[in-house]
Amino acid sequence: MQNICPQCSSNFDITDDDLAFLEKVSPIFNGKKELIPPPTLCPECRMQRRLAFRNERKLYHRKCDLTGKQIVSVYAADKPFKAYQSDEWYTDKWNALEYGRTFDFSRTFFEQWAELMSVVPRMSLVTSPEANAFNCSYINFAGHSENCYMTFDSDYNRDSMYTNVLKHSQNCVDCSFVHECELCYECVDCYASYNLRFSENCTNCSDCAFLKNCSGCRQCFFCSNLAQKEYHIFNKPYSKSEYEQLLESMQLNTSSGLHKLKNEFAEFTKQYPQKFQHALKVENGVGDYLANVQNCHHCFDIADAQDLRYCDTLYKAKDCCDVSSFGENIALIYDSGTIGVEGYNLQFCFNCVINCSDLLYCNECHRASHCFGCIGVGEKYCILNKQYTQEEYDTLVPQIIAHMRTTGEWGQFFPGALSPFGYSETMAQEQFPLTKESALTNGWNWYEERTEASDNYMGPMITIPDSITDVPDDITKQILKCEATGKPYKIIPQELKFYREMGIPIPRKCPDQRHKERMALRNPRKLWKRNCMKCSKEIETTYSPERPEIVYCESCYLSSVY
Ligand SMILES: [Zn+2]
Ligand SMILES: [Zn+2]
Repeated sequence: MQNICPQCSSNFDITDDDLAFLEKVSPIFNGKKELIPPPTLCPECRMQRRLAFRNERKLYHRKCDLTGKQIVSVYAADKPFKAYQSDEWYTDKWNALEYGRTFDFSRTFFEQWAELMSVVPRMSLVTSPEANAFNCSYINFAGHSENCYMTFDSDYNRDSMYTNVLKHSQNCVDCSFVHECELCYECVDCYASYNLRFSENCTNCSDCAFLKNCSGCRQCFFCSNLAQKEYHIFNKPYSKSEYEQLLESMQLNTSSGLHKLKNEFAEFTKQYPQKFQHALKVENGVGDYLANVQNCHHCFDIADAQDLRYCDTLYKAKDCCDVSSFGENIALIYDSGTIGVEGYNLQFCFNCVINCSDLLYCNECHRASHCFGCIGVGEKYCILNKQYTQEEYDTLVPQIIAHMRTTGEWGQFFPGALSPFGYSETMAQEQFPLTKESALTNGWNWYEERTEASDNYMGPMITIPDSITDVPDDITKQILKCEATGKPYKIIPQELKFYREMGIPIPRKCPDQRHKERMALRNPRKLWKRNCMKCSKEIETTYSPERPEIVYCESCYLSSVY
């Protein structure tokens, strides 16, 4: 079935497989299946809508509305929501069912849901009570961690700072999409590596810097597309002593040395072919950044998963369609975001992060099942936070669905205007950037960040020494100014210790800018059909045809490296 997306006017297909999935997840009440209709928006616009409900990294100081304590939250103090510190939110000090209401068939569902959202207290930061974090601050969507600072969507880490999608790692700083690594710095899409710096898409590398598309390398510097090499610079072999001498002359511990190398590296890697897909152990996978997956169609950033369609940033997922960051051990989920762990059979939900099943249109529910349109609930058989018997629930929900068919709401995720966040605060802005004007014209929210007192810092700007060896201890008490954005930022003591031990100069840019530049090294979540530049075989790739890289199919790429 060919459709035209009403939001972006692009053509998109709804395949028999898409319809079969919808049939499978359509809920059944009293033996009657309530079919979920096919989506009206194209896959990209659906992802954009889901991501507009996820504020991953914009954090604010505010008071906890339960305890009055000063906390850090995804909700700025002037937002019209009550926010409870997450630890308190998960206690029985309050009861979500007290906000319950009866469904009003004279009004739309979304209108009533929005009113409920405006009164139910929200989690200050999204976490689950099991995902303990010790001695961590400014983290969000992050758990099972110790001594971490500004780690987002990052779990099972220690002693790490300024990361997103960092998993099972320690002592990593400024890393994105890095797994099972130690002592890594400024790395993107790296796996099982040790003491790796300024590198992209590398596996099993140690004591290396400036590598791209390398695996199993030791003591290599400034190399691309190498496997199992030692003491290589510019893809050429050197003796151990020559290697050490040359490396010394590069002055990696100085900001000026690094700056020059970064620019040269981007140029250097252009001459080497890129594999059409960033993938490891993929069987029948269309998309990018896939590892150990089978039958994944139009998916991005997926690991250990099977039978997914139009999904992103999931881990151990099965049989899902239209699900966005993040989910672990989840199945039968449709058009939802941030499902967390052990979610089963959820449709049109977001931030239901722990052990939920059989939910429709729910948010921030935990250990809940058979609920419809609920917020913050951990019970069974609730509609708009009001509890019913199973019989009442099974009768009322089909009536609400029938009502939503007449209003055009059934089968649609929450409209963008119901997001508790401004578009620019969310992951949607990262993947699908919009200006304030176009966001507002297209019905998204916008949130104008109030300038914090520190943003107006007018005091003396300090000059950061070029080499890390000349940096004084008191730099952690200074306010630095980002050379790209002009924004003030700080160096924390744990961070200074890392830079000194690793011989890395103080970064000249603020953490957000560093994040932005790392993410720009990754390909967009968009696919183009084009041909392998060696054998002309058709490939589906995130490298758009006008990009400068040499793009090869899998077999041509492998024969070029090995
Ligand atoms: Zn579209
Ligand atoms: Zn080829």
